[in-house]
Amino acid sequence: MPRNAADSCDLIVIGGGPGGSALATFVAMHGNRVVLLEKEEFPRYQIGESLLPSTVHSICSLLGISEEIKNANFWLKPGATFRWGKNPDLWSFRFKLPQTPEALGYSYQVERSKFDAILLNNARRKGVEVRMRQTCTEIIKEDGRAVGVVYQDENGNEGRLNARYVADASGNTTRISRAVGERIYSDFFRNVAVFGYFENAKRLPAPNQGNSLHVAFKDGWFWYIPLSETLTSVGAVVARDSLEADTFAQGTESAYDGFIDACPIIKDHVSTGTRIREGRYGQVRIRKDYSYANTRFWSPGMVLVGDAACFVDPIFSSGVHLATYSGLLAARSINSCLDKKFSEERCFEEFERRYRREFNHFYQFNIAFYDMNRDEDSYYWHARSVLNTEERANDAFVTLVSGSAAEQFFDQRIGIGQVLQKHSEGEKDPITAANFDKSKLDLIKVAEGLAEGRFEIDRLAGLRPQVEQKPVFEAGLLASADGLSWEEAPIMVSAGD
Ligand code: FAD
Repeated sequence: MPRNAADSCDLIVIGGGPGGSALATFVAMHGNRVVLLEKEEFPRYQIGESLLPSTVHSICSLLGISEEIKNANFWLKPGATFRWGKNPDLWSFRFKLPQTPEALGYSYQVERSKFDAILLNNARRKGVEVRMRQTCTEIIKEDGRAVGVVYQDENGNEGRLNARYVADASGNTTRISRAVGERIYSDFFRNVAVFGYFENAKRLPAPNQGNSLHVAFKDGWFWYIPLSETLTSVGAVVARDSLEADTFAQGTESAYDGFIDACPIIKDHVSTGTRIREGRYGQVRIRKDYSYANTRFWSPGMVLVGDAACFVDPIFSSGVHLATYSGLLAARSINSCLDKKFSEERCFEEFERRYRREFNHFYQFNIAFYDMNRDEDSYYWHARSVLNTEERANDAFVTLVSGSAAEQFFDQRIGIGQVLQKHSEGEKDPITAANFDKSKLDLIKVAEGLAEGRFEIDRLAGLRPQVEQKPVFEAGLLASADGLSWEEAPIMVSAGD
């Protein structure tokens, strides 16, 4: 087909990261014609290396790549280890709890260049037409509806492609998402990440050698993620203000070294290693990792998935989960619309409400977790205590994410950090011990909610016992048996009817 001719398909996906690949694959698996445009050549570098079990087991099983992931030699991640809160010692959690199915008891730490390439190659095998080095530059709309895209190939030639649906999965730097709504930032999680890679740095003692290590220090916190026997990803998450401060005056590398010096546990762990200075991992990189959400996740003919829609602070490694989960939810909506099963509005409202709910669970949990590490002497931690947070005045973001006004939202969360603190210290009844207004406590609800989206994918993949599905809101829809479209929920008939 000539490059400049307007050709057409059912769905155009912009971006071949985990969100875009998952969405494209799930729509192609339903028998639809999908074209994916990716601006880079793969394998390409990406941050976001620590994954959750439901992504590497359940999503990958639904995508049909379980064996490939198992054989890819990714580093086994049994859990995570923290130096967080008042406790000066390291403490760990493991994914494998007594009630956790064996198959979900661990995850992987991955080099994203390899992981993302597996997902994208699989999309190709499942029938997606993947076009590399094609950059989407514009969304074409007719009467307010997205009907296609303009793209540029590697030689700067422009082309036009029409589709019944367009998905923006182009990640955190997207401009395309503006075609759907406005990006609103959180004030609580306005962080900057500075990160590099080490060869032969230390491992935690067995059995935690595969764990991600998260260490709070005065300027923020560090991640320390083992990616192989010898390769380690080491990053500091600090306040945005540090960027302007003296810390960065001598350049990024010296700021990075300075943060490592200021954090004894990380300094000790990298002491046996050498920082990599060449190749894919040879740079110290900086990424603004502000949390945000778009005012809308869909508009007629168009949907946002993954970081293009929203992003929440990476402390609990939720990014790839949210990207692939939103890819699955969006695929259900697009497949159902293409099948003319329900109205577009109904399908995409289902997608947006479920995705926002999942995002909100992580946002709430992260706030509680940050609040656990109060330190009055540290600018970073003082500013991020629930009592002091600027987010209280940021009604726009909080209302968007949680549906309640900021003041009310934060008042209800005061004290939850203390409960987590007590819990990490092994307190039997942290709720009584924390001595605060129990009527406000919705930690259990938050904790249950945090697992909901992931459990749903696990059940679809047959990795957790089936339970009766319930709509997540009144008149909401349910997942079909294969997980790829929406079904009407059975009408409940009360005993008196
Ligand atoms: P991406 O992975 O960003 O993929 C988007 C793709 O779109 C890219 O390949 C890009 O080349 C392409 N693209 C961009 N523009 C265009 C265009 N115009 N046309 C065509 N293609 C385009 N997540 C975790 O799960 N675990 C972690 O440990 C973790 N740590 C993180 C640490 C930091 C500091 C940060 C900032 C994030 C972290 N994340 C983590 C989050 C994770 O990086 C993202 O959430 C995840 O990559 C989102 O996937 P995505 O598919 O939405 O976007």
